[in-house]
Amino acid sequence: MENKILGIHHITAIAGDAKRNFDFYTKVLGLRFIKRTVNFDDPHTYHFYFGDEQGHAGTILTFFPWGSSVRQGRRGAGMATEIGYAVPEGSFDFWINRFEEHHVTYNKPAQRFGESYLTFLDPDGLKLELVIPPAADNRKPYETAEVKAAAATRGFYNTTLTLNSIKATAAVLTDIFGYTLIGQEGNRYRYATDAVDTANIIDLVELPNENKGIGAGGTVHHIAFRVKDDATQMVFREKIAAAGLQITPQIDRNYFHSLYFREPGGVLFEIATENPGFTVDESLEELGKHLKLPPQYEPQRKKIEAHLVPLD
Ligand code: ZN
Repeated sequence: MENKILGIHHITAIAGDAKRNFDFYTKVLGLRFIKRTVNFDDPHTYHFYFGDEQGHAGTILTFFPWGSSVRQGRRGAGMATEIGYAVPEGSFDFWINRFEEHHVTYNKPAQRFGESYLTFLDPDGLKLELVIPPAADNRKPYETAEVKAAAATRGFYNTTLTLNSIKATAAVLTDIFGYTLIGQEGNRYRYATDAVDTANIIDLVELPNENKGIGAGGTVHHIAFRVKDDATQMVFREKIAAAGLQITPQIDRNYFHSLYFREPGGVLFEIATENPGFTVDESLEELGKHLKLPPQYEPQRKKIEAHLVPLD
């Protein structure tokens, strides 16, 4: 399995107010805040990482909170439009009560591919789902005082991409990434890789007349697929370039190494390594506690901190 795409590594979205985003994901959803850093391409804005206790690949949702004046985005074609988290059987009552209590917008539970799911929106309008997988997801949940193991998210279950035509995107998944078509319901096509047991499903929804999405507040910026190491990553770089797609050189993101390319349907894909991980610059206990800057921005720490809103 080492030389394969190992499902999703992380998903990155755009938010507005940083404090509101932080409160929603740590308090309402009960995720662990695993890294407080800045956007490496724009160090005067935060980059937040939420995940399980250790920040395992497949649990990491990250945000660029661009501030409360952020333009509202719109879900549409050429975008990842839904993020699905696995939750335990019997947990929907807990979540519905919690959504009521915190004024979270949600839909009644529904069924798809024989699975129950519960759709909700974060404070910026980002669309997420809680899904009860057919077989229990055995990843160890992160628990908070209010969100215990009986309901806590286990990490990603699936991700949905909306496309005008699925053909070319499906070919990237099957011919390059090693995914297979495992089901279809209406215009939703489900692809999975058997290289891993979790965070391994991508749904493609085909809407020929859907307008292009607008990438701004409340939308997904990109989705990152996971590889074991740099050598595997370079093999995929070759394959993607050989398919005629433009791909970046390797970029050091401090916690992983990244390649980016836009798949033919318009969604920004990343390939990210497991190495070196989130404990490269702080201990497991201290994850998320302090603002961490990459070495190139350390000399500007005071100036950068002055631009960022406090969270605690
Ligand atoms: Zn990324």
